[in-house]
Amino acid sequence: MPQGTLCRALPVQNEEELKELLADTGGKKYYAEMQELDVNADKLAATLQKTLKSRLRTWLNICAKCGMCAESCFLYRIHNRDPKQVPAYKIQTTLGEIVRRNGKVDNKFMQHCMYTAWAKCTCCNRCGTYCPHGIDMGVMFGYLRGLLFSQGFVPWELKIGSGMHRVYRAQMNVTEEDWVETCEWMAEEQQEEYPLLEIPVDKEGADIMYTCNAREPKHYPEDIAEMAILFHIAGEDWTVPSKGWEQTSLSMFAGDWEACTMQVKEVYDAMERLKPKRMVGTECGHAHRATVIEGPYWAGREDGLPPVPCQHYVEWLAEALRLGKIKIDPAKRIKEPYTIQDSCNYVRNHGIKKAVREVMSYLADPSYYRPMEPDLEHNYCCGGGGGFNGIGMYRKERNFALMTKRDQILATGAKLVIAPCHNCWDAIRDLEEHFAIGIRWSFLKPLVVHAAIIPEHLKPQEEEEMEEEA
Ligand code: SF4
Ligand code: SF4
Ligand code: SF4
Repeated sequence: MPQGTLCRALPVQNEEELKELLADTGGKKYYAEMQELDVNADKLAATLQKTLKSRLRTWLNICAKCGMCAESCFLYRIHNRDPKQVPAYKIQTTLGEIVRRNGKVDNKFMQHCMYTAWAKCTCCNRCGTYCPHGIDMGVMFGYLRGLLFSQGFVPWELKIGSGMHRVYRAQMNVTEEDWVETCEWMAEEQQEEYPLLEIPVDKEGADIMYTCNAREPKHYPEDIAEMAILFHIAGEDWTVPSKGWEQTSLSMFAGDWEACTMQVKEVYDAMERLKPKRMVGTECGHAHRATVIEGPYWAGREDGLPPVPCQHYVEWLAEALRLGKIKIDPAKRIKEPYTIQDSCNYVRNHGIKKAVREVMSYLADPSYYRPMEPDLEHNYCCGGGGGFNGIGMYRKERNFALMTKRDQILATGAKLVIAPCHNCWDAIRDLEEHFAIGIRWSFLKPLVVHAAIIPEHLKPQEEEEMEEEA
């Protein structure tokens, strides 16, 4: 059978198709159709010809098969040092083979590639920092995912995720109205404690435009409230866009490059329209990667930069504490050992190494800090990166992959894990659920909101005071 009704080379075109996919519980019909899906070898060869540029071709050719990347991959280490988990082996037996055969591969081979690309690599880019030639399997598997997506071989959840971006310009079905209403609702909820708090929508020329992860309005609106409280306390001039507020990109995990471009352009359009001095994005690693690191290339920006300077939320928080815009109540500082999960996406891939530690130096005495070993740019993936967290079919493999982080955390002795990345946060939540090691985990926002001193002029005025003033 050439193409299925759910599983096919074409991406999701509209809301109706998206709903059909969603109705296929667990992707049962989708995966059944995948067994019959034809590979269009001519199209694959043409895609290779057009998109496999010199860097990736060179990497495939110069790999010395020395195996020095093996130990760098957490999946190799936990799978009992299985040679089939060596990064170079994984890419040479998938992408390398497709290139050598110039696209003449069959359905079975594409399914093997799909399994390797999504269940044997989280695109954490750690191997790239250890290979003497700088060959990075995170980048290579990212490219392979694009080839697989273009032929319809992509896990069901990620086909849905990229479809969401195409239909809603968000990774979940959150419309512009939903988003604006959630902002209004969260502002109202806070006004008893912070009477002047607002969430300004579409304000032009503000100092900061804030963007977030769609799961915040969809599942965790308190995250939006916390962000608003902290901007309010810090006295920032800020806004959120009604359109272009979603910073994440499940299409990046899916390998749907066209949807990546659509999504990031929406955010860049908001920057051009509202002309903020800078953008601050939420505590999400892959959102930062998509909008700030990869996005300019997807959007074809010649300078390789977004339209305005961008900061990850941890950078803004560190700055606000350093400048005294937010002050911490000493009585509310954390008084227990804690450790920090360094997200690959903004720590290893963008060098934002000091900010989280700087924030924590205000929140807790440094003697409580228990570093993971290794950490910073050498840290291991949490185990759920690159979309691994969300793929039901590979749940067993993902749970196994969480063991590295479990053991790193256990070795610190800390019970509190600071995890300023949504994906890492999810993986750590799941590892606690799966292994029950007795830990707690947190973003930075709630910790800072809890400990921040509310300036007198922002506190609710007592009725008597208000009468006097009147
Ligand atoms: S370390 Fe680099 S050159 Fe050596 S096998 Fe790995 S990818 Fe190839
Ligand atoms: S990118 Fe990460 S998960 Fe993938 S092969 Fe390299 S080290 Fe392993
Ligand atoms: S989920 Fe976190 S640790 Fe894992 S690859 Fe993504 S950023 Fe890295």
